[in-house]
Amino acid sequence: MKTTTSPEPETRNPKPETRSDAFTTHSPEETFALARSIGEQLKGGEILLLSGDLGAGKTVFAKGLAAGLGIDPTDVTSPSFTLVNIHEGRLRFYHVDLYRLESDSRRDLGLEEIFEDSDCVTAIEWAERLQYTPLNSTHVSIDYLSDSERKIEIWQSV
Ligand code: ADP
Ligand code: MG
Repeated sequence: MKTTTSPEPETRNPKPETRSDAFTTHSPEETFALARSIGEQLKGGEILLLSGDLGAGKTVFAKGLAAGLGIDPTDVTSPSFTLVNIHEGRLRFYHVDLYRLESDSRRDLGLEEIFEDSDCVTAIEWAERLQYTPLNSTHVSIDYLSDSERKIEIWQSV
C-alpha cells in the first residue's frame, strides 16, 4: 500500500473545463456588494448554489443578490422553518435554505419546477444537501478565512 502522498501540483485546476473566479472579501458589506453586482447582471433562469459552513456568509450573499434584483435585502432572512421564500423584484427570487432538511426527504423536493422557470432566479443555501447538481447552475463556495475575511469562489457547472 502506498503510504506517502505526493504534493498536489499547484497549477492543477481542480475544476477542469469550467471558468472560475475567486475573490477575497474583507467585510460583510464587501460580500454583499459582490453579490449585488452579480444580481444586477442576472437575466432570469439562473440557479446559484451557495455552499459553506454555518456563518460563512451565504445569507449575506443572498441578500446582495436580492438587492441586485431590486428587492429590499432586509426582507431576505434565513428561512428557518420554510424551505423556500419568494421575493418579487425585477425578477422573481426564490431563496431556498436546505439547512434543516432531513436526509430522507432530500428527494422529490419539487424544486425542479422552480429551476425550469426562466423568469426567476434561485439561490440555494446548503446546496451541497441537494442530491444532484441542477443543469447550468452557478456554484458559489464561501470559505471562512478570518473573522472578517471570506474566500468566495464562483464557477459554472457544465
Ligand atoms: P450563513 O448564511 O452562511 O450561515 P450568514 O450570512 O448568516 O452565514 O452570516 C455570516 C456572518 O459572518 C455574519 O454575521 C457576517 O456579519 C459575518 N461576516 C464577517 N465577515 C464577513 C464577510 N467578509 N462576508 C460575509 N459575512 C461576513
Ligand atoms: Mg444562512
